[in-house]
Amino acid sequence: MIRRMSLVVAAVLLLGGCEAVQEQLIRRGAERTFLPDRFELADDGVLHVVLCGTGSPLPDPARAAACTAVIAAGRMFLVDVGPGSWENVQRWRLPRERLAAVLLTHFHSDHIGDLGETTTQSWIGGRPQPLEVIGPPGVEAVVEGFARAYSADAGYRTVHHGADVLPPEGGRTVAKSAPVPPGQKDVVVFDGDGLRITAFPVDHAPVEAAYGYRFDYKGRSVVISGDTKPTASIVEHARGTDVLVHEALAAHIIRIGTEVAREKGNARLAKMSTDIIDYHTTPAQAAEEARQAGVRMLVYTHLVPGALPPVIGRAAFMSEVETGGELEIVMGEDGMLINLPAESTEIEIVDVLD
Ligand SMILES: [Zn+2]
Ligand SMILES: [Zn+2]
Repeated sequence: MIRRMSLVVAAVLLLGGCEAVQEQLIRRGAERTFLPDRFELADDGVLHVVLCGTGSPLPDPARAAACTAVIAAGRMFLVDVGPGSWENVQRWRLPRERLAAVLLTHFHSDHIGDLGETTTQSWIGGRPQPLEVIGPPGVEAVVEGFARAYSADAGYRTVHHGADVLPPEGGRTVAKSAPVPPGQKDVVVFDGDGLRITAFPVDHAPVEAAYGYRFDYKGRSVVISGDTKPTASIVEHARGTDVLVHEALAAHIIRIGTEVAREKGNARLAKMSTDIIDYHTTPAQAAEEARQAGVRMLVYTHLVPGALPPVIGRAAFMSEVETGGELEIVMGEDGMLINLPAESTEIEIVDVLD
């Protein structure tokens, strides 16, 4: 066995030293890297949901922070752009040029950290018009801050590549604050080509305000909760929807971690992990709300804690969730593509790279 291995290593070293083989391998890698973006996802009349970040502020090598892409009506929308999420969008060749807007649920760092990269890299990817960033009041300050931090970079790029290739307009962001009008429960933030997007307040106090978003397209619908504790607003806006992508914090697991932190004398961590429980939703509570709303499929995202051993972690995460009945419950993973064909009841989940 060892002899066979050493023969393979010797062959690789020998061939690797050969310039023709090197060039061939580099060309093959470049062919994969420079494949065009997947515009068909925007143009096929299907409502697509891609989980581009199912993690939380806690480090998890398998999960980027909060990000859900919704692709329909010729456009792509990103609900939150947490750290690490843009890399997923680009690696999976989601249609960057068609990025119509970023919809921020609120301004915690795990939801906004990649806004600068999202703006810059979608511009490089071909988006010609300024990028709209829609969110609760306060979005202007977030957008202005990122724009200022990236302004030198944007300037260099246009000078270097020319305005034909990188028109300055594409490097700009436009904040669109979307307050809910007095007496209303929600606000429509986009309506065009059969796609309607509605923002509605959720309860993530002391964060003021925090939104969830509902997408309706050709008889199909998806709701993305943002960060929230259980609230009637989720049940109301998710009523009858096909898919509810809901945040989930497994409080029973966090409590074990808090005990350990206290035993280890880490009072600071123990305090913070106790604090976070009261402004999120447990997997069991999310399932309860999904049932009340008559949702067909519940998909957990923003998993806290995320980095648990695969099989045991899933069982532990779901241990208090009532299963069975009509509601289908799915643990979200980065790279899940959910397809909702027009005017149908089908819900298909595939790997975005398949
Ligand atoms: Zn938050
Ligand atoms: Zn969060």
